[in-house]
Amino acid sequence: MRPINSKPTSRFLSDKNFESVFGNPPTIATRAPGRINLIGEHVDYQDGLVLPAAIDRYICGSARAISGPEVRLWSSLGGDTVVVPLDQTAPLIGRNRWANYVFGVVAKYRDAGHPVVGFEAAFDGNLPLGVGLSSSAALESATALIVEALAGITLAPTDRALLCQAAEHDWAGVPCGIMDQLVINAGIDGHALKIDCRSLEIQPAPLPPNLAIVVADSKVHHSLADGEYAKRKADCENATHALGLASLRDLDIDRLRASRQVFRRARHVVTEISRVKNFSAALDAGNISTLAALMAASHDSLRADYEVSCKELDALVEIAVELGTHGSRMMG
Ligand code: ADP
Ligand code: MG
Repeated sequence: MRPINSKPTSRFLSDKNFESVFGNPPTIATRAPGRINLIGEHVDYQDGLVLPAAIDRYICGSARAISGPEVRLWSSLGGDTVVVPLDQTAPLIGRNRWANYVFGVVAKYRDAGHPVVGFEAAFDGNLPLGVGLSSSAALESATALIVEALAGITLAPTDRALLCQAAEHDWAGVPCGIMDQLVINAGIDGHALKIDCRSLEIQPAPLPPNLAIVVADSKVHHSLADGEYAKRKADCENATHALGLASLRDLDIDRLRASRQVFRRARHVVTEISRVKNFSAALDAGNISTLAALMAASHDSLRADYEVSCKELDALVEIAVELGTHGSRMMG
């Protein structure tokens, strides 16, 4: 994986599909990368700090305006073209559910008062879906770029990210944080981004040019819709209320230690945020051995305190460390 930004390419995978599905060449082609996260896992929805990077795999969309008040959506994933009236207000159900990631974005631009027009679009890409590389936010962002191009507007990356996140919440039904949409829209070649998920401030973090980032798929499937993600989020909110805080961002580790109840979920969030700070400082200083220790501590915390790992992931991390990587941890 190579960290990149979202530069257009000359010929998109989705262009040819568009022509064969809709009978005309597209007038617009957009591309949005997937992302990895070096450290800062499960903290974006608690206003935390994260350190993700956009990567050289992407979802792309090819499109053309139509005169009717509807959008016609096709994906290389298979299935028929999904037709949605521009004034639709309820999420799609059944086989067409994937189109919520697309139409939800259209609806959010519409509801924010942007001049949305009808269009046809075909989506394709080389980013694996549902494996934690954020194809959902990439699909939303490729859609947002289509909507903007057709409306003749360009939103700031942060504003675009917020509309995409709102679409994922309200149309796809996934209560995600802002990290994925932000790094996908603001990624910089050769850099990770240190993102403050409370202020939405973004600091580019240059990566050593000889650093290789390797992503391994455990092939153990999870679904964000299966409720575990929402449960972790609720656990954090319960801890927040019990401690009388606005978010866990405001909790320091001494206060957590002093509290009678052991808030393991909260402890993960608090220690992970502090690991992001230390990781970013170690990256600046070129201190690779510290990066490795922090990644190991992050994995342990996700396994023991947050309970989102599994034996296959634990084994993969162990093998990667034995093979001599600079650091390894679960992601996604
Ligand atoms: P991740 O974001 O880690 O890839 P998610 O479960 O959040 O995993 O999102 C995956 C879902 O996004 C897919 O099940 C599908 O509904 C939708 N999706 C992503 N890319 C595409 C695509 N190219 N075509 C159709 N649907 C897609
Ligand atoms: Mg996703």
